[in-house]
Amino acid sequence: MFTSTLLTLALAAISASAAPSSLTRRAQPSIFYGCTKPNTAAITFDDGVGSYTYDVVNTLNEKGAKGTFFLNGNNWRCIYDEDSKDKVNYIYKNDHQIASHTWSHARLSDLSFDQLHDEMWRVEQALQRIVGVTPAFLRPPYGAINDQVLDVAYSRGQNVVIWDFDSRDSVGASADESKAEYDTVANQHPDTIMALNHEVYDSTAHDVLPYAIDRLQGAGYQLVTVAECLGIDAYQNVGEPETGSWTCE
Ligand SMILES: [Zn+2]
Repeated sequence: MFTSTLLTLALAAISASAAPSSLTRRAQPSIFYGCTKPNTAAITFDDGVGSYTYDVVNTLNEKGAKGTFFLNGNNWRCIYDEDSKDKVNYIYKNDHQIASHTWSHARLSDLSFDQLHDEMWRVEQALQRIVGVTPAFLRPPYGAINDQVLDVAYSRGQNVVIWDFDSRDSVGASADESKAEYDTVANQHPDTIMALNHEVYDSTAHDVLPYAIDRLQGAGYQLVTVAECLGIDAYQNVGEPETGSWTCE
């Protein structure tokens, strides 16, 4: 009895320590290349917040669609700028999903264990401060992963999300070319769609997005968040935002 109690305590101490174990790895969360709930499509936006965040949210709202925003901390702009904080809150308050795209948009597969934790926790901390939530989803920049990236992400409670459809807006596709990609996938009509877009492009926000929503809804898809299309909670916890002023330095 005494020995088994000690063993239990020792095991509890190990699992509570910071070092991720192989046990953590095998547990949920997981990596997803697409949605799992039939007839759902998740439109996702990387690299924000940006110049067009309000327009993207408003278009989604007007058309009865939900979006998922994989946000950077300090990429195109600093998430702690007043303007950025307002945009993050606007996304969240309109019931779209906010998630992590890491702090600086580094290629995670090139980073050390410590650098990976830093890239991830800084965004988690920012969203805790600004909105009061800890995200449960992370999209690695460039989709670049390796075993260590997954180990660190899982140890932080992050579901890693890739995509199965690319509007190609970040690799130079014109609005018409992106729309043609949406036409193709709508016609192919897979069970589900997880669509990669970038909210930082004018053409994506104002031209491709309204078209894509109409096209996918017209094809019978329900446009939901990534969390909803997978049936997993969007956040590890939901609390209150903090008051304060922070910088990206
Ligand atoms: Zn990105």
